[in-house]
Amino acid sequence: MIEVFDEGLHSGVNLALKVNKVLYRNKTEHQDLMIFENNRFGRVMALDGAIQITENDEFIYHEMFAHVPILAHGAVKRVLIIGGGDGAAARQVLQHDGIDLTLVDLDRTVIDLSREYFPTVHGGAFDDPRMTIVVADGCMFVKETDETWDVIIIDSTDPEGPGEVLYTQEFYTDCKSCLTEGGIITTQNGVPFVQADELKNSYDRLGTLFTDVSFFMAGIPSYVGGPLAFGWATNNPALRTIAVETLAERFEAAGITTEYYTPEIHKAAFVLPVYVQKILTGE
Ligand code: SAM
Repeated sequence: MIEVFDEGLHSGVNLALKVNKVLYRNKTEHQDLMIFENNRFGRVMALDGAIQITENDEFIYHEMFAHVPILAHGAVKRVLIIGGGDGAAARQVLQHDGIDLTLVDLDRTVIDLSREYFPTVHGGAFDDPRMTIVVADGCMFVKETDETWDVIIIDSTDPEGPGEVLYTQEFYTDCKSCLTEGGIITTQNGVPFVQADELKNSYDRLGTLFTDVSFFMAGIPSYVGGPLAFGWATNNPALRTIAVETLAERFEAAGITTEYYTPEIHKAAFVLPVYVQKILTGE
């Protein structure tokens, strides 16, 4: 057994996973990267001791991260992923026809090793001509670009280490300026039960920039402490309250394959439990 969560953000809670076999362990230029086999989760990648992805439950996270904003928007042409160097969110985005995708990850080694060790997770996304890969700090990228996107997916590590900048007011402000009108930002916002501050900080920061800020949730077995929250920010409030029938039509028309996402789950995911609502209102 090894501890894959240390103190800090998840203070007081640890997830222990059996390491059946270590496939890779080394320091990249930016992070400590470990890939190992676990008999329940399949191949697992951890960065700085925190699980990033597991082969067997990643579909829940990445289907929700990609299909919720794309199907709610309904006319997405360009998607930007910040982080997501494992290629899994990219694979889900690229299930949709006619989308031009840019992926910006800080760590070239994460991309290279994901390509080698997680073929079913990226599903060939790295070689898809519709995707442009940029190795750069996401914060600097959105500050300097003059391009715009309909959906920005911030698939980052937690707000510690290199991912910390991806939760700042400055970064969110720069993301807003490269979003098309009515565009949507979604974020990886941690598990509210153990990362309440992270949720509240993003809610308050995004709330100064967008008229509609909320979260949608999904239970993902490898995230310890309960369901994970994805942040949602847009200036078009109608996108969050879209009818399930409309989502069902778009889902059907998109012809995508899912193992978790359904239009009904999409709608239900925005219904927040009382304890989460209280975190947001500061009660
Ligand atoms: N599902 C994961 C989680 O819950 O933490 C996120 C997975 S994805 C592998 C996270 C990626 O964010 C990593 O590949 C890491 O290199 C990238 N990353 C961290 N800080 C970054 C930054 N400042 N700019 C761009 N990418 C960053």
